[in-house]
Amino acid sequence: MRRLGASVYGAGGRPGVPPVVWRDGGRQVLSGAFYFAPSGAQDDGGSVKSRWKDSEAKGKNRIELLVYRSRLIGSEPELCLWGGGNTSTKMEELDFLGRKRLVLRVKGSGSDLKEAEPHHFSPMAVEDLLPVLARAGMRDEEMVAYFEKCLLDPKAPRPSIEALLHAFVPENDIDHTHADTILALTNTSQAKSIIRQVYGNDLLFVPYIKPGFLLAKAVVRAYRENPRAKGAVLEKHGLITWGVDSKTSYSRTIEMVSRAETFIRKRGKDRPRLGGVRCKSLNPREREEFLVRFFGAIRSGVSRRERKILTFNDSPAVLEYVNSRLGPQTSQEGAATPDHMLRTKRIPLFVDWKGKDPLSVSPKFIAKQVERHGENHRRYYQRFHEPGQPMLDPYPRVILIPRVGMITSGKNLAEARIVQEIYKHSMRVQAGASFVDRYKSLPLAEAFEMEYWSLELYKLSLAGQEKELARQVAWVTGAGGGIGRAISEKLAEEGAHVVALDLHGEKAREIAGKINSRLKSPQALGLACDVTKEASIDEAMVQTLKTFGGVDFLVSNAGVAHVAPVDELDLKSWEESFRVNSTGHFLVARRIIRQLKHQGMGGALVFIASKNVLAPGKDFAAYSAAKSAQTQLARVLAIENGELGIRVNVIHPDGVFEGSGLWDEIKKARARSHGIKPDALERYYQNRNLMKVRVEPQDVAEAVLFLLSKRSAKTTGCMITVDGGLREAFPR
Ligand code: ZN
Repeated sequence: MRRLGASVYGAGGRPGVPPVVWRDGGRQVLSGAFYFAPSGAQDDGGSVKSRWKDSEAKGKNRIELLVYRSRLIGSEPELCLWGGGNTSTKMEELDFLGRKRLVLRVKGSGSDLKEAEPHHFSPMAVEDLLPVLARAGMRDEEMVAYFEKCLLDPKAPRPSIEALLHAFVPENDIDHTHADTILALTNTSQAKSIIRQVYGNDLLFVPYIKPGFLLAKAVVRAYRENPRAKGAVLEKHGLITWGVDSKTSYSRTIEMVSRAETFIRKRGKDRPRLGGVRCKSLNPREREEFLVRFFGAIRSGVSRRERKILTFNDSPAVLEYVNSRLGPQTSQEGAATPDHMLRTKRIPLFVDWKGKDPLSVSPKFIAKQVERHGENHRRYYQRFHEPGQPMLDPYPRVILIPRVGMITSGKNLAEARIVQEIYKHSMRVQAGASFVDRYKSLPLAEAFEMEYWSLELYKLSLAGQEKELARQVAWVTGAGGGIGRAISEKLAEEGAHVVALDLHGEKAREIAGKINSRLKSPQALGLACDVTKEASIDEAMVQTLKTFGGVDFLVSNAGVAHVAPVDELDLKSWEESFRVNSTGHFLVARRIIRQLKHQGMGGALVFIASKNVLAPGKDFAAYSAAKSAQTQLARVLAIENGELGIRVNVIHPDGVFEGSGLWDEIKKARARSHGIKPDALERYYQNRNLMKVRVEPQDVAEAVLFLLSKRSAKTTGCMITVDGGLREAFPR
């Protein structure tokens, strides 16, 4: 058994109480004197409830309990969001030489509490960590290097930046969260007295200090003054609770948050939320019209430094906020907690309509405000940055638009959604604070320090290298067929966001769903779309804008085929072929070009035509003629849009049978035209090409990737064959 007493933790333990004792193996780890019955989640009508179940916790060791409670905390969005928050436990473990060491298991960077696993918690030797408590200061980089030396497993993730806090406070289990309701109390001008009023001496109040060494020291100092406290409120940052075991610490988190909820609810009884209503929302149709008119300018505005994916939200809570009296002012106050700032940046852009009707102003009206936001950031950077510190992307991640909703941006949809979720919580915090007092965030200099904090930015940098088509959105028509599916999958694999469009919506959705689950990333959207109908195309664009905020590529692939000699071809078939194979491509391309022009960031279109354009076959007039029209359309588009950086190219595949609905329909007729049996058709096509190869959908997808990517940056108006080599179809 090992005792860690005043000699290690310094003077100031609870008077007359023996020091904390950790005992072997994670079973009996406490000194009796430190134990008290867990307070449990006091249900004062608060909305956060304890999810702890003794039946689930039974039989678990300390690490398993740590994982269990971390997941409970992580799965409660009111408590913690996206990689935020951290938890720990202390226990005796054997090191690599079989020596017993007191080990702190603390959450490492880069993992999320709701998906906690034992290996996410880095083991650190407590006796190696405690000596630094005597130091006056410690730079972040120094601290990180020091942490590495204390790790008992060199392969463990980098410990949380708040690890020292977990080490210094002599409690077995510690939870740290950024709970909304706690922030609503502490992000106010009267934070200290409000916290006293709500919690008395149950929680310590620690004035704002940037997370890291000094904050850990400040917390332990406060702890020594009142070791009976159940935790601490960190001003403008969050909550810490502790206890002798997982259940106690977790229950206290729930208890403290519930008490905050109750207080806010009481105070809010006779105050209007966010100061009441300032303006009314546009109706849903008008809001969609807004997207179509303004998204191009907004996307190019926020993409000036790096291209972005944008996503839109106009839920009732968001509309309430953007239309509120206090929104314009409190949103500019700053982020709710340092953790949020790294995702949302310090402040959002709150669009000012200046008394105008949103649908009557030009897109430039908003673009100018986006630009001004960037300039303001530049000034803020110039004022506070240190020499050699590069400026981060100055454009807003969050755009709040009165009467319309909220746009958030990121390098991909997953990130834009995280920003969206975080800002929805910021709205909640600000609403809560508006009941209690006036919402207040960090002073500018402190905010800058956090926004530009290299260690936390490191957390975001763990994502790795970006894929070739990252940050771009592709429309693929006819996505339900063999070629369309292969193209959709290929583009998504290479990082693109894909809108899979098909006449059959369920097929499109199925493909999108499969892509998303395989890539574990929300990159694909499946939509029903009839390429021959303008309204259907317009609707697909609205959905695309809502989800991804724009479009960069078109793969125009939808097609039909009819087989008959001209003298037997009926007008209906001829017209249908033209409607789909040429007019459909015209309508979709026209819509895409309009959007690309709104954005002003270039783009690329690829038309999937046919070998029949170059070398028509008999009985195939309706198809070959319509595909030729499509090819000519592509060339004119290349001519018209080259100066805008929009490239347009054509692929001519031949005999791609796999998964092809088109071939299923015409196989018999084509075999008849060639004078062979349907079964022999695939072999016939294979044998007629120079390489004697079967052409697969993936071969076409590779050519599409080449023509959309920067690899073909200087190629437009071009035709590429994917046919195994056909002499008569050589482009010339
Ligand atoms: Zn924190």
